Amino acid sequence: MTTTGNIDTITDSELQAARERYRVERDKRLRPDANDQYIEVTGDYESYVADPYVEPGFTRDPVVRDVQVLILGAGFSGLLAAARLRDAGIDDIAIIEKAGDVGGTWYWNRYPGAQCDIESYIYLPLLEETGYLPIEKYSRAPEIRQHAIRIAQFYDLYPRLLFQTELRELRWDPTDSRWHAGTDRDDRISARYVILSNGPMNRPKLPGIPGISTFTGRTFHTSRWDYAYTGGDERGGLEGLADKRVAVIGTGATGIQCVPHLGRYAEHLYVVQRTPSAVDVRGNRPTDPEWATTLKPGWQRERMRNFNALVNPASLFLGSAPSEDLVADGWTSLLGSTMSASVEVAQSGATGDDLGVAYERADLAHMNRIRRRVDEIVDDPDTAEKLKAWYRTFCKRPTFNDDYLPTFNRPNVTLLDTDGRGVERVTEQGIVVNGVEYEVDCIIFATGFEVGTNYTRRFGFEIVGRDGATLSAHWAQGPRTLHGYYSDGFPNCFFTGLNQNAFTPNFCHMLDEQVEHITSVLLEAERRGSRSVEPTADAVQGWVQEIAATQMPFTTELQTTCTPGYYNGEGATGKGKGLLEGLYGFGSDAYFEVVRTWRENGMPGLAFPRRDTEVSPNAD
Ligand code: NDP
Repeated sequence: MTTTGNIDTITDSELQAARERYRVERDKRLRPDANDQYIEVTGDYESYVADPYVEPGFTRDPVVRDVQVLILGAGFSGLLAAARLRDAGIDDIAIIEKAGDVGGTWYWNRYPGAQCDIESYIYLPLLEETGYLPIEKYSRAPEIRQHAIRIAQFYDLYPRLLFQTELRELRWDPTDSRWHAGTDRDDRISARYVILSNGPMNRPKLPGIPGISTFTGRTFHTSRWDYAYTGGDERGGLEGLADKRVAVIGTGATGIQCVPHLGRYAEHLYVVQRTPSAVDVRGNRPTDPEWATTLKPGWQRERMRNFNALVNPASLFLGSAPSEDLVADGWTSLLGSTMSASVEVAQSGATGDDLGVAYERADLAHMNRIRRRVDEIVDDPDTAEKLKAWYRTFCKRPTFNDDYLPTFNRPNVTLLDTDGRGVERVTEQGIVVNGVEYEVDCIIFATGFEVGTNYTRRFGFEIVGRDGATLSAHWAQGPRTLHGYYSDGFPNCFFTGLNQNAFTPNFCHMLDEQVEHITSVLLEAERRGSRSVEPTADAVQGWVQEIAATQMPFTTELQTTCTPGYYNGEGATGKGKGLLEGLYGFGSDAYFEVVRTWRENGMPGLAFPRRDTEVSPNAD
């Protein structure tokens, strides 16, 4: 387990110097085009999103069907929704999925080294239900994908799945109180309820580098890995690269995981870095069979909740964090110790620091340790200096890897640091960085996924609710929901993912809580024999205000002073484009409690008109 640095050793002048360095590093990366710097992967770039894992030419007859529940997406969110509904006795389900099988992000992301950096025992859903225990503390992608298949088989979901199918339109019809869905395969599916489980980061993005389409070598995005070209598989063995010069662009969580494999196999590897990631200790290990025998029923939910409370800054400040740390890894020590230390300082009042400054001190101690780790591992001092992350921990996603930094000690690996500017140009033969052209055979884009772009662009369809109103128009100034789950004017339509709800690093825990909530609302609608379920405009407005009211000034200020990335809308903070913007400010633990209590109190603000009426709760 990692330990944080000692915050008592952080002097005022050190804190000032770090603030200044962070500001300089941030300012040099700010761009007026913010999120618009990325190219939409359509038209000439469409090949970047083609599915490399299916045989081309799949055809089937259009499906015409009426179901009780239509789910969009067969990643863990959609699978969980279907599983929980089946457990509750609702079997009339159809699931539309773009990919050739289940797994969502784990279907697409098969790059070498792909692995989940949240502990497998809390990340993989439905372990107790399906009777499976992961083989390692941190699962690798094939095991995760296999578990998605296991869930689909266990809950008999395959007959309900329509693969290689994309939703094209979703329209509410008040005459039959049903959603009508059209797909790219001419299916006509109607459904009483719709659950949108289409994932927050499903659309790969490319940087708008001049000349990007002129490159004549091989090029692909990490979420569509071309093993026919590289050889090998997710475990490595990229023998096809033995005589290839490869450039990988991007050093986020994905780049960190695939670079060690590329370094091992490519004739020469150029790692193009715009902003370094903070890379902490991984420390994976096989599952202890003796520990497995000690697990009591209900252990997974308990472990998920324990982890969540420990990585939730709000519960630490509110003093509600558990004393026991069941997962005991980089996440819990990072947030747990860092935050506890800052809370202690703030509460003692000894320094007169407010919470924000106390947190900043603790964070700096942690980041200093991460930067020292680079010096300890990377031999060349100049390369080591460039690999150091100069921002606060949660400006970018923390990463954990034991093989990334040692890769830079290999003679066939060159770090091309761009000092925050990125690749200058792509040419027919390669890339231009800092005025120098590097000829390569292959460019791999580890440049992430669209966040904060318009819903229709990201998902390829429009949602048309009551009176022909579109969701894009209704949300033009930002999401408008009750608790993140439903919007006025869009009856019987449930959202999962990150919209005005709360974030936890363990995404599958968040999804499980969301699906539990949606299932109970849906069952309540059925129990009451209601024709539809929809929030009142007042309830939605109340929640929009609640979200604004719970924003903690110091966390908002933190994102504003952060180096750009998808967490803060590429530096354009406050416009609702960042992944971490517009969420419930008191954290996920408190949020789960808010919605639990709301359910117990009879679900106020939701209208359940009877089946013999069709009245909008928002009609005048
Ligand atoms: P990210 O968006 O995190 O990283 C994109 C990278 O591309 C950044 O390093 C970015 O630099 C770089 N980049 C963008 N434009 C340019 C340019 N013009 N020139 C050079 N570099 C450029 O995407 P990832 O795919 O790495 O990660 C996405 C998310 O997926 C993660 O944050 C995480 O949530 C998830 N993930 C989770 C894993 C897990 O273990 N659970 C593993 C892998 C991914 P800059 O920082 O300067 O913008």
